Amino acid sequence: MNEQNIFIVRCGEVALKGMNKPYFEKALVERIRKNLQPLGIGEPGKWGNPGGINVSRHEGLIFIHADKSVDPDQIIRNTSKVFGVASISQAVEAPSNLDEIGPVAVDFMMKQIKERGIKTFKVEAKRADKNFPVKSPDIARIIGAKVLIGCKVLKVDVHNPDVRLFVDLRKDRTYLYDQKISGFGGLPLGTNGKGMVLLSGGIDSPVAAWMMAKRGMMLEAMHFHSYPYTSPRAQQKVEELAGIVASYSGSMRMHIVNLLPIQEQIVMNCPEEETTILVRRFMMRIAEEIAKKNKCMMLITGENLGQVASQTAEALVVTDACVSMPVMRPLIAMDKVDIMDKAQEIGTYEKSIEPYEDCCTVFLPKHPTTKPRLQQIEASESRLDVEALVKAAVESEEIKEIRA
Ligand code: ATP
Ligand code: MG
Repeated sequence: MNEQNIFIVRCGEVALKGMNKPYFEKALVERIRKNLQPLGIGEPGKWGNPGGINVSRHEGLIFIHADKSVDPDQIIRNTSKVFGVASISQAVEAPSNLDEIGPVAVDFMMKQIKERGIKTFKVEAKRADKNFPVKSPDIARIIGAKVLIGCKVLKVDVHNPDVRLFVDLRKDRTYLYDQKISGFGGLPLGTNGKGMVLLSGGIDSPVAAWMMAKRGMMLEAMHFHSYPYTSPRAQQKVEELAGIVASYSGSMRMHIVNLLPIQEQIVMNCPEEETTILVRRFMMRIAEEIAKKNKCMMLITGENLGQVASQTAEALVVTDACVSMPVMRPLIAMDKVDIMDKAQEIGTYEKSIEPYEDCCTVFLPKHPTTKPRLQQIEASESRLDVEALVKAAVESEEIKEIRA
């Protein structure tokens, strides 16, 4: 019995998709396989080979069957990181009849007694197969009685049990488990195009990238530095941050451009208080060009309404006006504390707060304009050869492959 470890994966929003459900489910299975690959994926159908893991769809759920030699905690960790996964449970299975479910339930609980010293339990049953002749509350009662007889030390506690034994009765098989480990939900990667995220070393942009990837968007990243004003170590930090994002969003390319030649032109030719907004417009233009070349459909930034001078409503309008590609700002209405919490949750925070310089802080004006007017900004830009500067920047890009 149960030669392999079995895991049930529940899909959140994917399950709500109508006609497109099989497409999303297939994409989700592929993504789970990919995340489990480092642990050893076996040939589909050939279970039981050492390190073998099989991922399949059945009865509206996704199942992972893994050889016992593979660490179950690692399977849970890698799977719960896959976007589209609502939750995962390690389960044992039994044929769908009460006589056979009983002993499996007793075995399961005996193990809990041995490993965790539990004293109380409650059975919660769900009958996905509505043709099954016994209703859910009765299934729970019958299995509960069998557990009480089989595990003499246990008592029922319906309010605050040490273990909740879930019995999920389906047409072919019944699954028993005691824990649901939450995933992030969202949609499987690759089901929603590709975007170019402008990645700084700060707290916000990795969270913005993560949020778009969570909705199924593949990513490429764009990073600007001002070497030698910014150090190679600062860039190293951004690559490491991108690596953390990539552990969710998959390996991605990072496009790196030195913005210093453009910043120098701006400082020499334009009003000081406009430096920040002018630099930002160049960033957007360069990112858009590189995005187009790489079939990215949108730009993504970590901008947030009112956070700094360049993110007032007026500044955002002026920033947007220089590109035609949609600019996604998933953090736009979030409070900084909530963004920081999210960064903690996804594991980027500690890296983000490492103190390295950023190109935005080079040539920072004392009093940046907070209400730029497009006409005025365009007038300042007319003193620069915008097209040539953008072209040179795009041509100078360096590309790095970022792995999770
Ligand atoms: P973050 O917003 O990521 O915490 P930050 O606060 O230093 O970093 P802001 O000045 O708020 O950055 O910039 C707003 C957004 O502009 C960033 O979220 C990011 O998308 C983009 N950006 C800023 N600096 C860079 C950079 N050096 N390279 C690429 N994109 C950048
Ligand atoms: Mg910011």
